[in-house]
Amino acid sequence: MFKKILIANRGEIALRVIRAAREMGVATVAVHSTADADAMHVRMADESVCIGPPASPQSYLSFPAIISACEITGAEAIHPGYGFLSENAQFVQIVEDHDLTFIGPTAEHIRVMGDKITAKDTMKALGVPCVPGSDGGVATLEEAQAIGAEMGYPVIIKATAGGGGRGMKVAETAADMERAFMTARAEGKSNFGNDEVYIEKYLTTPRHIEIQVFGDGKGRAVHLGERDCSLQRRHQKVFEEAPGPSISAEERAAIGKVCADAVARINYIGAGTIEFLYENGEFYFIEMNTRLQVEHPVTEAIFDVDLVREQIRVASGMDMSFTQDDLKIRGHAIEVRINAEKLPEFRPCPGKITQYHAPGGLGVRMDSALYDGYSIPPYYDSLIGKLIVHGRDRSEALARLNRALGELIVDGVDTTVPLFHALLAEKDVHTGDYNIHWLEKWLDAQAE
Ligand code: ADP
Repeated sequence: MFKKILIANRGEIALRVIRAAREMGVATVAVHSTADADAMHVRMADESVCIGPPASPQSYLSFPAIISACEITGAEAIHPGYGFLSENAQFVQIVEDHDLTFIGPTAEHIRVMGDKITAKDTMKALGVPCVPGSDGGVATLEEAQAIGAEMGYPVIIKATAGGGGRGMKVAETAADMERAFMTARAEGKSNFGNDEVYIEKYLTTPRHIEIQVFGDGKGRAVHLGERDCSLQRRHQKVFEEAPGPSISAEERAAIGKVCADAVARINYIGAGTIEFLYENGEFYFIEMNTRLQVEHPVTEAIFDVDLVREQIRVASGMDMSFTQDDLKIRGHAIEVRINAEKLPEFRPCPGKITQYHAPGGLGVRMDSALYDGYSIPPYYDSLIGKLIVHGRDRSEALARLNRALGELIVDGVDTTVPLFHALLAEKDVHTGDYNIHWLEKWLDAQAE
């Protein structure tokens, strides 16, 4: 086991990793920009290193700054959290070249899955069901139009390097194709430096169902069921739950096995998520995330496992601490993402927290780096906390969420908490009857 690890991240996820490491007796090094000198992750780690100015490219994304911080402190491994360098194959290569360990998959796995076209080809070859679409990249508008005509509209044009909901455009009809194709290419180019795009059938009423997988890098892998993340705004998840209200035990076992077998065959190491759209009882692969997800706590709650601990274990060369047979679902968990944003526009709203009180009690987990008097810097993501509740069943989890949201106090900045109070008053949220478009439609209706 490692003696000391460095966490190349900030905010709640940095705390999450520090907590797991501490329980394992592993010392922690926090890194921070000058804007984060007073951040909670800096206070909570055993040591900290300032790695640069506020702008992420010069701090949290700077390879030399992070590698030097390891060398100065003697950290043997780097946990990337999510976002920042977590899916950067080049960084992983450099980490390995410096005889350090990346707590995550190999550079090669990240590279394969980071390109959506290659990822889809790989998954298809491994027997994972995919969304019908173009076989590979589509180079010209004429080719795109021909595929649209053959497949039937609507279709979605996606940048192969896209992520975070960017680089995707829907063409409802043939008349939309030129605009959608050009915009997806331009977004791919400007956001990710790659204008290659591909086309998929646009599913009109799917749910977003993702399967958590975990591999030991030696050909063994398990699945930890699904998360339903259908409530999304602009393709960004806001409310996640496990198990999925629409998925039966038989479906879970079947798709879970397909996913676990697929990652076992490629000797995948660590945590990964295979994302699907689910419509009319069918699963369609859309992408694989080769890292810990923001919403991993709902899976931890229902399986009673610590995924970060497990990541650190396998990265150090140990075996996984559970087998597929050990993994049994208990109850239902829901996570809501609390952002410092002003509704109804969801405008980022950094500022000083004048009062913070976290909810508690049975089945409540609050993952947040907030504290009284903390100033949220304007340079980073607006996620300031995740509230996770666990109950014996879905209705108990919903009641607990309502109760916990009522206890939460975040004063000084606007947050997305009122959105969740409003959602809990909706019948469809209680019945679990929604697809990936439900929230956008509901928000539009509220705005009228
Ligand atoms: P990103 O990497 O940007 O997150 P994904 O490929 O994971 O992109 O897609 C994000 C979201 O976009 C999905 O959760 C879904 O809401 C929507 N989406 C993606 N592909 C399709 C499709 N073929 N049909 C309908 N919606 C889609």
